[in-house]
Parts: sequence; C-alpha cells; structure tokens
Amino acid sequence: MIRIMAYILGLCLLCSATMGWCDWHSRSRPIMGTEVSVTLWHDDPQQARRAIDAVMAQMRGIDERWNPAAPGSELYRVNQQAAIGPVAISPELAGVIDKALYYSRLTEGAFDISFASVGQFYDYRSGVAPGEEQRQEALPAVDYRLLQLDRDALRLGFGHPTMKIDLGGIAKGYAVDRAIELLWQRGVRHASVSAGGDTRLLGDRRGRPWMVGIRNPRQDDDVALVLPLENVAFSTSGDYERFFIDPDTGARVHHIINPRTGLSAGGVLSVSVIGPRGFDTDPLSTTVFVLGVDQGLALIDSLPDFDAVLIDAQGAVHYSSGLVE
Ligand code: AMP
Ligand code: MG
Repeated sequence: MIRIMAYILGLCLLCSATMGWCDWHSRSRPIMGTEVSVTLWHDDPQQARRAIDAVMAQMRGIDERWNPAAPGSELYRVNQQAAIGPVAISPELAGVIDKALYYSRLTEGAFDISFASVGQFYDYRSGVAPGEEQRQEALPAVDYRLLQLDRDALRLGFGHPTMKIDLGGIAKGYAVDRAIELLWQRGVRHASVSAGGDTRLLGDRRGRPWMVGIRNPRQDDDVALVLPLENVAFSTSGDYERFFIDPDTGARVHHIINPRTGLSAGGVLSVSVIGPRGFDTDPLSTTVFVLGVDQGLALIDSLPDFDAVLIDAQGAVHYSSGLVE
C-alpha cells in the first residue's frame, strides 16, 4: 500500500515538474438546481482547495438568496410582498433586476423575469403545464414595464397583483462572474467556472485554449461543435435542459418561455452566446432563444462584443457575423 502511494506521489511530482498537470484542480457540486464545476490552475494544492471551497460557498449563498421556491429567500419574500407595496431589496438584487430590465427594454420583452407569473404553473419534472384558461389569466402579469424598481431607494414593487419574478435566466451568469472575480483576487489566473449552461473562462489552459463543447441538442453524449476559447463567458440555452413531452400532442414543453404567449419558445433547439461577461451572455442566450434565428442573430450582430451559435429546429447551425467574417 505504502509502495503504491509512494509511486503515485512520485508520478505526481514528476508530472507536476514536467507538465504542470498536477497543478490543475477540479470539483463539481450540485448547486442552484444544476451542476457547478470549477477547474483552476494553482501550484499550491491547499490554496487551490480553499479557493474552490470559497467559490462553492459563494454559489450556495446566491442560491439561498434567490431561490424563489425557498421560504426565507430574498426572492421568496419579494414575490410574496411586492404586489402589496414596494419592498426593500439588497443592492445586489437591485443590480440584477436592473440588468434584466435592460435586456427587456432592448428586446421589447423577449427577456422578462416576470415570465414567472405564468412560468410558476409549469412543473417539468411532473409533466405539468398550465391549462389554456390559467395561462390566459396569468399573462397580463407578464410585463416588465410593470416592475417598479427604485435603484436609489433599493425598493421593488409589482404593478400587477399576480406578478411573480424568477432569475433563472440571469443568476447563473452573474454567479460565474462573481466566482471568477473571487478567484482572481486569490491570485488564480487560469480557471473555468460553470453553472449548468453558463461558463466563464479566466485566461487559457496555460498555453492552449479551453475547448468548449456545444452539445447535440437531441443526443445527450454527442458534441455538435467544439470552440477554442479563452478569457470569455459562454452561455448555452437549450430546450433539452428542463422539459417533458406532452402525451397528447407529442410537443416538447420546455423551460424557456415566450413572454407574449406563456408557452415554450419554438424555432430553435439551442443558442450559445460568447461575450465578455456571464451577466450578459446568460440573459442573451435566453433572449436569442425566444427571438429565434433571424431576430436573434440581428440582435447579436448589433452588439459589438458578442457572438452566437444557434441550432435551429431542423438541426442546421447558424453563426453570428463575427464568427464567419
Ligand atoms: P437559460 O438556461 O439561461 O436559458 O435560462 C432558462 C431559465 O430562464 C428558465 O429555467 C427560467 O427560469 C428563465 N426564463 C425562461 N424564459 C424566460 C424569459 N423569457 N425571460 C427571462 N427568463 C426566462
Ligand atoms: Mg441564459
């Protein structure tokens, strides 16, 4: 046993000295209803472990504050009270809602955190969707223009009695940015942090780019495309993440909602957006999914710092102009 351990240790020291391989540290944990993964390069294993601990703790904190289903969370309280009158919110939540409203205005509501007013009636695990009447009744509360955010006074009110909000389309991108900030402060210069479909890359893989895969939306273990990337954020929204097949119609009922109809957005199967920060690529991937190929690509082409790859309902791949020029 001791001999085997000594052998492994020797091997590790050897490859550490020659390739730096043993200085890569990785961990994955289920947080925020998804898999959070951290990979970083650090020559001190103890500091690497502490840095990953800190990222995981920060992710759990964000989840605790903004899980709308957890009584006691800030978002739960807001959803309970903001329709009665404006409620006090944290500067952090105000910043995220402000960003969400920016994308709502830019797209006339394709991105809208108040989608939850109807989204709350979907349960993808149990195969439940709102009935026609319930959906129509809930729709008037889906309207970002009725969200009253006072960024100075840190207060939020809902202008409709049945309005609810959910940050599922933006919080993970925000969280991976925060994680990379934290790692940077701890001296890390090469890292990848993912929360489900949202990834932020710090630096490269020490001399090589990170290889980021876009999965085949209709086959779990198949990668449709691999992109060499470094120092960017990368978000994918797919109709395969949370869904069920309606037994009556055979239609796929999934988690990206068109705020105009309250139904799952059709037209594309997956959207990946590349840009400087997850705080933007996350809402943009959801937004482009709702807008579809033509409007979605037009939006991305109007934003200088962003690119996108879309897979449409026929499986054809579409690129923003920055990737093909
Ligand atoms: P993503 O995987 O980043 O595309 O985010 C999907 C999540 O965003 C869903 O699970 C919902 O929580 C939320 N969402 C769905 N539709 C919308 C929408 N139209 N606007 C804003 N958020 C949405
Ligand atoms: Mg997104």
